[in-house]
Amino acid sequence: MRTKIVAGNWKMYKTLPEAVSLINELKSHVLPDKSVEVIIAPAFVNLHQAVTLLNDFPISVAAQNMHFADQGAYTGEISADMLIAIGVNNVILGHSERRAYFNETDEILQKKAEKAYEKGMLNIFCVGENLEERNTGKHFEIVKNQLTKSLFNLPIEAYKKIVIAYEPVWAIGTGQTATPDQAQEMHQFIRKTLSKKYGADLANHVRILYGGSVKPGNAAEIFSKPDVDGGLIGGASLNAKEFNAIIEAAKS
Ligand code: PEP
Repeated sequence: MRTKIVAGNWKMYKTLPEAVSLINELKSHVLPDKSVEVIIAPAFVNLHQAVTLLNDFPISVAAQNMHFADQGAYTGEISADMLIAIGVNNVILGHSERRAYFNETDEILQKKAEKAYEKGMLNIFCVGENLEERNTGKHFEIVKNQLTKSLFNLPIEAYKKIVIAYEPVWAIGTGQTATPDQAQEMHQFIRKTLSKKYGADLANHVRILYGGSVKPGNAAEIFSKPDVDGGLIGGASLNAKEFNAIIEAAKS
């Protein structure tokens, strides 16, 4: 049995006071339940406060990105050790916005994934095709390449701390969700791809989240698909009631 995960990507939203108020609201809405792991990913400047506020509450905190180097002259960047030192042991890597707007390539993401493994961090690794790639039938090939180039150099043990998030770029922030069947089809493909490389046992254990306009109204149907192990939520994670409704939809 794979425990579902509902993770909220707060992107570049919420000042510190706003983040504090959303976390406090979440604490009053979310009913902890062992059947779902809940993660939130606030902006870097709000992470320390988030960890402090959630110290006694079963919501984990993730960063939205990190650099691959341990330290150095990388102005504006944040290292794994800096995150770990403030109690952040989870990181989202390869989000399509980082790939598209900040030129994160498969090669850069390979180094970041290696660093997350080396440091024992949970790596929520995003893959997904854009609209043109979907319309020209290249979506399976694109996702397979992203996995192969950035993750398949890692040893089998690394996957204890890897969660894959399938996020079709055309569904992120657009209100246009993949149908539950489209999500299931790609998740099954990802599991098959993992199985060919690492074996069926590993493939059956890795959690694969769906991301792309998940809302309270569509979450239950998407999460009911056999290879969908929860969601990575953008817009709806900024509203405590909506995020909680999505968490409830993931409870089994
Ligand atoms: C995301 O940013 O990962 C995401 C899925 O966003 P949204 O839910 O807003 O589509």
